[in-house]
Amino acid sequence: MVRYVYDFTEGGRDMAGLLGGKGANLAEMTRMGLPVPPGFTVTTEACRAFLATGTEPDGLAREISEHLTVLEQVAGRRLGQPDDPLLLSVRSGARFSMPGMMETILDIGLGDDSVLGLAKTSGNERFAWDSYRRLVQMFGSTVMGVDSSVFEQAMTQLKDLRGAPDDLHLDAGDLAQLVETYKNLIKHETGEDFPQLPAEQLRRAVLAVFESWNGERARLYRRREHIPDDLGTAVNVQTMVFGNLGPDSGSGVAFTRDPATGARGVYGDYLSNAQGEDVVAGIRNTVPLDELGRLNPEAFAQLRDHMRTLETHYRDLCDIEFTIERGKLWMLQTRVGKRTAEAAFAIAAELVDEDLITPDEGLARVSGDGLARLMFPRFDTAAVGQALAHGIPASPGAAVGAAVFDSAEAVRRAAAGEKVVLVRQETTPDDLPGMVAAQAVLTSRGGKTSHAAVVARGMGKVCVCGAEEITVDPQGRRFLVGGTVVEEGTVLSVDGSEGAVYPGAAPLVDSAVMRYFETDERGERSAGLVDAVARAMQQADGIRRLGVRANADTPEDAARARRFGAEGIGLCRTEHMFLGDRRQLVEAMILARTDTERERALAALLPLQRQDFVGILEAMDGLPVTIRLLDPPLHEFLPDRTELAVRIAAAEAHGNPPSAHDAELLDAVNRMHEENPMLGLRGVRLGLVAPGLVAMQVRAIAEAVVDRKRAGGDPQAEIMVPLIDTVEELRLVREEVEQVLAEVSKASGVPIQCPVGTMIELPRAALTAGRIAEEAQFFSFGTNDLTQTTWGFSRDDVEAAFFSAYLDKGIFKVSPFETIDREGVGRLVEIAVAEGRAARPGLKIGVCGEHGGDPDSVHFFHAAGLDYVSCSPFRVPVARLEAGRAAL
Ligand code: ADP
Ligand code: MG
Ligand code: MG
Repeated sequence: MVRYVYDFTEGGRDMAGLLGGKGANLAEMTRMGLPVPPGFTVTTEACRAFLATGTEPDGLAREISEHLTVLEQVAGRRLGQPDDPLLLSVRSGARFSMPGMMETILDIGLGDDSVLGLAKTSGNERFAWDSYRRLVQMFGSTVMGVDSSVFEQAMTQLKDLRGAPDDLHLDAGDLAQLVETYKNLIKHETGEDFPQLPAEQLRRAVLAVFESWNGERARLYRRREHIPDDLGTAVNVQTMVFGNLGPDSGSGVAFTRDPATGARGVYGDYLSNAQGEDVVAGIRNTVPLDELGRLNPEAFAQLRDHMRTLETHYRDLCDIEFTIERGKLWMLQTRVGKRTAEAAFAIAAELVDEDLITPDEGLARVSGDGLARLMFPRFDTAAVGQALAHGIPASPGAAVGAAVFDSAEAVRRAAAGEKVVLVRQETTPDDLPGMVAAQAVLTSRGGKTSHAAVVARGMGKVCVCGAEEITVDPQGRRFLVGGTVVEEGTVLSVDGSEGAVYPGAAPLVDSAVMRYFETDERGERSAGLVDAVARAMQQADGIRRLGVRANADTPEDAARARRFGAEGIGLCRTEHMFLGDRRQLVEAMILARTDTERERALAALLPLQRQDFVGILEAMDGLPVTIRLLDPPLHEFLPDRTELAVRIAAAEAHGNPPSAHDAELLDAVNRMHEENPMLGLRGVRLGLVAPGLVAMQVRAIAEAVVDRKRAGGDPQAEIMVPLIDTVEELRLVREEVEQVLAEVSKASGVPIQCPVGTMIELPRAALTAGRIAEEAQFFSFGTNDLTQTTWGFSRDDVEAAFFSAYLDKGIFKVSPFETIDREGVGRLVEIAVAEGRAARPGLKIGVCGEHGGDPDSVHFFHAAGLDYVSCSPFRVPVARLEAGRAAL
């Protein structure tokens, strides 16, 4: 029989799928003997069953009531007992942490009678009414669907009436009055009374948590984080402990290390005389956790103790939610904490040093995406000038954008292509779309664990929070700082690493990590972050099986790629070499009417191309350089058809007939026009019909090799033929290539070894890879074209047109141009690898599409048995790191 409920004493951290992360970790802490208020967890399975059918699964109610009885026995109080009620929290908690995305309801079990009992037994009337008004408010909004602003307004009104600066200044009588107001508001808004029966409160709260799985902000968050929609949430029902019992009580959040930098020490926020939600909600300003050491040294010492225990147990950064009830510490939540990329590298290195994890585990804890983020530029501190405001550096990086004051405006401007900074007093889950749209988030309240900070860090978005000098005026669409008014649309520079905001667009400089890659990796060990990155890179390089090359077309790019650790060039495109001044020569070649004219044009191109190749081969001396023969359709080198036609027509209108050259050009452009150039005369097709082109390019390569050899170099050129469909094409081109190589070799007396291979970028090529391998000395997957032709859509045309709709509908989890589509394109890759190597054992196979620098795709290429990936120079470190992680 299925079981839907587990006591905290029965679960453990390995049961997160069933109990959710929160439930599994509550159980783990319970088993570790940490002070966790007793409770039980309703499984995600129950949630899935409920969401599928709309009704509670059979047996759930009975199981809950059985477990409740146990809680009541332990507590010696019953739910709803009028003279001394047991109170419960009902807390969401999914497999993957979704902070603040779903619902939690506190103080379940209070009613008009029991609130009096609670007042009496606690000896604190204010506390009892405060708890009751919290329940009515949370239940009213979460379970009964009343807009939470309705309650907030009533609260604000009362505070204004009493002249109370915050909720602490409302007394028991005020709070009792507020409860009445809230109850009336609920009746007014829903036509229903606030339910007095504790059992009904509990049941409805559990179902509301189930339903919050499908709430709008939870869905949005899942889509962004690629969390599947069908997991469901668990529900934790837990005995309440009270942080709102007076000044010797309070609630807080803590990290075992700084989640922004990874620095060791105790980080967090504490709020005295408050229930948990207040801490992140920014209702009142929190104090740094250290302050707790002064307020309550004993509880603080205990907390630090438990933090150490947890970090050693989980062998990782933990984040913790706790409450102190009249001096006694209770642990309410822990999990392996989210962290910035910087902190991830720093913590991994430190945990290795502390022998808590192995170097391989350290490598598993960092990521290529994180590394890419650390390579982003930062603001040039020497040039930024005076900061407008300072706040807490909650999520690092540098971002520039126009100030906006609400989520909708952020979304609107971002959709129009503008970069924006979302400025709020504090954020709530309703601000999520705006945070997604913004480059950075700036808040005037809240600490490192505020909603803004946690969510921004999770997204890798720049965030400065708690910038208390600024006063945000969302109605006026502006903020005030010192004597300055900053209106909507004003450009700001937000430095999430330093916690500063600057007016205007501040200049950027390379990050320390980028400088490290740019200079000498094998130099002395530098401190901190750079050292941590260096160690992860070393670990990755030590175990990776995939080679990493770069896509580079110039000596400068080649040299940079080499500094970044590229082991050669996997794709050297030649089309860029035909642009600029050389366009004229290409034009002459295309327009040539006689063999002599064409040969003259090609002969003029030859030395220029040779020089290009000499430079690149020199920069990559000793390492392979895969040069792709010309790929794009020739008309790309001619003027735009419409522009040319308009120019000629305009001239004619002024009585000037077109020049012979223009007429000729227009004729050629018209002749060569293609409806689908992507599927037209390009790649090998061009080489086979444009006489002399391949020969010229190969001659340039061969002569460059000779040049380099004569200069004492070690050139390793490889010739790659693009867009092969069938082995016949490759055979014909290869004959021509070999002939030219032989000629140059003979004429120069220098032997030339230059493998000739092909791109595999059309489905037909992948499916006939066994045949193609007869002629190909290597394969390189061109996954951009292979994705386009496999799916039958052109990236340039469709990404803007319908990809966002496809992502919304869940047809893609991520664009197939970003991450390789394993199921379709990946299948073709696997077929081609298997059949290619069957025909030619040991066939060298790489990939040179942009997927070569995408972490997830790198893992796929590793598993598919490729020899190397090739990506843009800046992605080379990312690919190295992920290739290492793939080999773990
Ligand atoms: P979230 O997933 O959004 O963090 P939680 O379920 O952790 O939501 O609840 C939010 C806060 O409510 C907790 O941090 C804690 O302070 C408070 N809370 C939850 N359960 C209890 C409890 N049993 N006793 C006291 N406070 C609680
Ligand atoms: Mg929590
Ligand atoms: Mg291609």
